[in-house]
Amino acid sequence: MVPLVIDCKHVWEYISGYLDNNLEASERNEVQKHLEHCEICSAILDSTRNILILSADERVFELPLGFSERLHARLDEEMQRIKA
Ligand SMILES: [Zn+2]
Repeated sequence: MVPLVIDCKHVWEYISGYLDNNLEASERNEVQKHLEHCEICSAILDSTRNILILSADERVFELPLGFSERLHARLDEEMQRIKA
């Protein structure tokens, strides 16, 4: 069961599935709804998509090594800045 309101951390976990079209319809909906009102996640989605497009001719959807750790660290920084 997908929570009624998902937060950014949930969205980040769904982003690669979202881009790969691997999500349940309900998950996809939630992510989409979140992206409509969250600039951070929209930006993340854009940059993640760009990376995937760069590697798309090989149909390789693996993110570069360490990418997701760096991404999450960056996101945590953003979150703290917004809260501060
Ligand atoms: Zn968000």
